[in-house]
Formats: sequence, structure tokens, C-alpha cells
Amino acid sequence: MLFHCGTDSELTPEVRPFFDGLLPELALRLRGGGKALDMAILCVNRLEESGLFNAGRGAIPQSDGVVRRDAGAMDGASMKALGISQVRGVPAMSRLVAALHGMSPHVHLAGVLAEEWARRNGWPEAGSQKAGYPDPLTFWNESGQSGSGTVGCVVRDSEGHLAAVTSTGGIGRMWPGRIGDSPIVGGGFYADDTLGAISMTGVGEAILTSGGGVALLVAMASSGGGPAPQSAREWLERVERRFGATAGCVGISLGRPFFAHTSAAMVRGYVGTDRAFVGDRADQDPF
Ligand code: ASP
Repeated sequence: MLFHCGTDSELTPEVRPFFDGLLPELALRLRGGGKALDMAILCVNRLEESGLFNAGRGAIPQSDGVVRRDAGAMDGASMKALGISQVRGVPAMSRLVAALHGMSPHVHLAGVLAEEWARRNGWPEAGSQKAGYPDPLTFWNESGQSGSGTVGCVVRDSEGHLAAVTSTGGIGRMWPGRIGDSPIVGGGFYADDTLGAISMTGVGEAILTSGGGVALLVAMASSGGGPAPQSAREWLERVERRFGATAGCVGISLGRPFFAHTSAAMVRGYVGTDRAFVGDRADQDPF
């Protein structure tokens, strides 16, 4: 399994001890035969609950001061996908998505009606505006963009099935109601056992108008099997040239794992049955 913590996230001394606990936990669950979607939900939920990133407990507010979170999940065996966006008062968005996944014929639910479902099904705080984020300003840089923190995970389990999950608080200075790529199937997340799995991060407007994560996977699959990190990076470089926005991703393309980003840094990690690592720069990657 692979995870990321958003473009420009860094492995600071504050963040590193969190991974010292997370990696062994994930490795244990993986060795225990954890299913792809369950493992991806677990990983993203731990990242959300840490409060260290712009997702879950650490999510930043929209420009009206209200935190509205987005998340999405897809199972590559069943091809079932669900995104939920613009929900208030639910830090555990990955768990909300998991609870609703496969229960409706729809692939996206948003706003107050999604909150109503959440309230009826065990999230009493859903819809409340008290979000409990630590200090939203810490995530904003001078250009008004969030510094870092969308979180995502892709998994291939012991049976070879794939899953992808992404969760975010969005970007800095966004309008109330704005939805980025993260909760959009094919945009910020995608999984198909026959193609691959991906979780994206970066400015959602640029990612979506470039065709999103599924376009990246298709481009990689049709590029003739060159080194996966390099093909993914070339795609992200085109996004940067055309839209002036950096982006990043973790994924599995035709069985090959990859991380790629055009931001200076991106916390990313790999957990397998044999080894685990976390880093924030490409020169630390094991593949
Ligand atoms: N992709 C997220 C969004 O546009 C933000 C990010 O990944 O930093 O909402």
C-alpha cells in the first residue's frame, strides 16, 4: 500500500513520530490479510484523525469560516465508487464514505442531505459548524493556498484487488461550496483492478481540468510500460506547464507502484508485507 499527505507536506520532527506508530500498525494489518478497501480506509482515517494534515481533524475552513470536508473511495474489484463533499462536523470522512459505500446507486452525495444521512447513522455532530480544527492559518501560505495536507491511499491486497481513498479540507481561500478533485471519482481517486489505482493531490481545479487521476492512469497504461514514476511525473509536469499548478499522486499502474509530484516535497509512504518506509523527497523512494 502507498499513501501521501499532500503536495508540499514535509516530514518535520513534529510529524515523524506519528509515522513511527502508523507504519507497523498498517504492516500488521496487511499481513493479517486486510482487504484493499478496508486497508485504504484505515490508513486515511488514521491520517485524518492525527490532526496533522488538511483533512479530517486538521481540515481548513472555507472563506466563510466553516470547515466543509470532502472524501471519496473506490473499490477496484467491484468498481463501486462514492464521493461525499461539503459535509460539516464529520472529521472521520473516510469512515462516512465507507459506511455509505455500495449502499446507494449514486457515486456522489453532497452537502446538507449527506449530513442528514450521517446524523441518522451515527454521526450526531454532522451538520454542526464546530469543526475542532487546530489552527487553520498554519496551513495557509502567502499565496493563500493551503500549504499541505490532503491525504490519500492506494492498496493492492493479498488477493490482488485494488482500492483508492482520498480525503481533504480543500485549498486555502476557497469559496463556500467549492469542491475540488479529491471526492470526485476519476478526479482525485480511482481504482480498477484491470488498470490501476490512484490518489491525487494538488490544486483541484487544475487536476480536474486535466482529466483527473483516471486520465493519468490511462496515459501511463498506454505509454508502453516505461518506468512508472517517470511517466506519472511527466503527466504532472504537463499539468504544471498548462495550468501553473503543482500536483502529486501515489498509485499502482498495471501492477507497478509509483509516487510522483511536481511540488518540492510530498510526504509519501509505502507499506508492504516485507518492508515499510516514509519520506518526503523522490531521492528517498525505494522504487
Ligand atoms: N486536491 C485538493 C483540492 O483541490 C487540495 C490538495 O490536494 O492540496 O481540494
